[in-house]
Amino acid sequence: MPATAAASGAGPMSATVPASVVVGGTTGDDGPRPHPLDVLHRVWGYDQFRGEQAQIIETVVGGGDALVLMPTGGGKSLCYQVPALVRPGTGVVVSPLIALMQDQVDALSALGVRAGFLNSTQDPAQRRAVEQAYLAGELDLLYLAPERLRVRETVELLDRGTVALFAIDEAHCVSQWGHDFRPDYLQLSMLHERWPDVPRIALTATATEATHREIAERLQLGDARHFVASFDRPNIQYRIAPKDNPRNQLLTLLREEHPGDAGIVYCLSRSSVEQTAEFLAGQGITALPYHAGLDRNVRARNQARFLREDGVVMVATIAFGMGIDKPDVRFVAHLDLPKSVEGYYQETGRAGRDGLPSTAWLAYGLADVVQQRRLIDTSEGDAAHRRRLTQHLDAMLALCETVTCRRVQLLGYFGQASEPCGNCDTCLIPPDAWDGTVAAQKLLSTIVRLDQRGQRYGVGHLVDILRGKQTPRVQQLGHASLSTFGLGADLSDGEWRGVVRQLLAAELLEVDTEGYGTLRLSPGSADVLRGERTVPLRRDPTAGSGRTRRARGSSTPAADLAPGDVGAFERLRAWRAAAAREQGVPAYVVFHDATLREIASRMPGSLDELGTVSGVGATKLERYGPGVLAALDESTAPVGAAAQAEQTD
Ligand code: ADP
Ligand code: ZN
Repeated sequence: MPATAAASGAGPMSATVPASVVVGGTTGDDGPRPHPLDVLHRVWGYDQFRGEQAQIIETVVGGGDALVLMPTGGGKSLCYQVPALVRPGTGVVVSPLIALMQDQVDALSALGVRAGFLNSTQDPAQRRAVEQAYLAGELDLLYLAPERLRVRETVELLDRGTVALFAIDEAHCVSQWGHDFRPDYLQLSMLHERWPDVPRIALTATATEATHREIAERLQLGDARHFVASFDRPNIQYRIAPKDNPRNQLLTLLREEHPGDAGIVYCLSRSSVEQTAEFLAGQGITALPYHAGLDRNVRARNQARFLREDGVVMVATIAFGMGIDKPDVRFVAHLDLPKSVEGYYQETGRAGRDGLPSTAWLAYGLADVVQQRRLIDTSEGDAAHRRRLTQHLDAMLALCETVTCRRVQLLGYFGQASEPCGNCDTCLIPPDAWDGTVAAQKLLSTIVRLDQRGQRYGVGHLVDILRGKQTPRVQQLGHASLSTFGLGADLSDGEWRGVVRQLLAAELLEVDTEGYGTLRLSPGSADVLRGERTVPLRRDPTAGSGRTRRARGSSTPAADLAPGDVGAFERLRAWRAAAAREQGVPAYVVFHDATLREIASRMPGSLDELGTVSGVGATKLERYGPGVLAALDESTAPVGAAAQAEQTD
């Protein structure tokens, strides 16, 4: 068994390097290069490349540059990891994900790949050990934080060894149009200037035209081949629900559809993160908070628990999640409106990387539109910046208000045409569209009439006037005398709020920046008032009709196994929990659920047979094979003991 530091789980992995590897051909310029497909079989235990992986790998192995746009879970990592093992020297991976480098290195070490990282979390001794391993040609992959390339010593260090390729991970961080700009990424164009002969591969899961162009320009990828995969994630069910009582809606989602599942709940503010986590914990759900204001150690601990334990719900700001490659996140819920479709798609994409059914659920209401429009109006930065924010928000609102397939809209945003998917809320329960022109005129003329009196109000009072309610405020202000008073009694409060929300989303109405949440006409309002523009609206589904799930059955890992295989699967899980704990790595680093499932249904009787299961590479076979076979043998692994091991995880 190859004694890697990762396998022992103890001590600073980054300072040590696996003593032996299963990968050949990385020893120098002279030896014959292994074939990429052989590397895939031997190291990962996978049968074949997916989608365009083979062409991408071929390009980079041949010394060419590549720009890869692929959704989360699409299989980007192999696109640089395989070439790094095939080409002589070390693959240098530039990544902003400092907090995850240890996990990435651990996962590679479990495969027998020699990996290390250099970042600010290490002490000088740890750094020196990694540097020496690099110089000695003993590293297949080296992860670097982008800021390290500003340091002259790092550049000189790279010069003294052999760089097989540069991988620029999360390449959208170089784009100011996108949602995650990192200034340190701008200077990555130096890679090309300094090492013109080393192939570069830039990868991202963000794919609008604008971002795509900006990445190519700023990283000087003029000669690169571009690979744009389909961005569809068919196993994710997209749903956007009218916000009613968001916490209870969330609780219903978790209890009825995802009991015991791991998931992420995104909130806009730190305080709502903490309150929501507390609320869920009070309901007996294992929920942990994560935001940039928490102590670093608390954050690290919560992230580690989310990765290592089963069924933890992370309640977080968007500071959490990039690079989290936990495969079994079963749902991503948003309690607040995301600021852009790009951000939303990245965040929801963290669900279901293992390909099993998962849910992306967003609660969205009038207050979200009001709040976001206000935030933009009062934001710092120039007019161009505000215009960009407005464009992002408008696209997000259009997605929320669509009466057609969400997925068609989403993919259309990334420039990809598709057919209605059958696995989103609008496909499953098509909303009614109705002509809201007259309703819009009633609302807008109420605002005009109040304006003439020098008065502006928020949605609550406006709806009271339209519905003809004699509230104390209406009486006090004499608003019953307005000609629109009572003209809107045909719609309910909720329906009126839906009208206001959609007018705001379409910019046919504006939030007044002076008063909190008061409304005023927008430049587009006049067209509606004059009857020159019709206003098609979406009728919100009523509460309770929003439950569209279960069409595809339960998502628990054992769900679709043959009854006879369930016992073996559970024994394998228990064995895996114990192995992972012993080594201090997340369970999925040992084997994914999908691999355990295949083992349970095939019941291999020998190591050779086990080695043919997808996901069982040479190192894992050697390291875990005997344990797996023992776990399969019922007589040596009684279910009682197994269940106990699982519980103590
Ligand atoms: P990304 O970085 O694009 O989000 P990953 O590289 O993490 O995606 O891959 C997602 C999952 O798919 C991982 O579990 C990975 O092991 C698996 N995977 C990638 N390529 C293949 C392949 N050719 N065959 C089988 N599984 C694959
Ligand atoms: Zn659909």
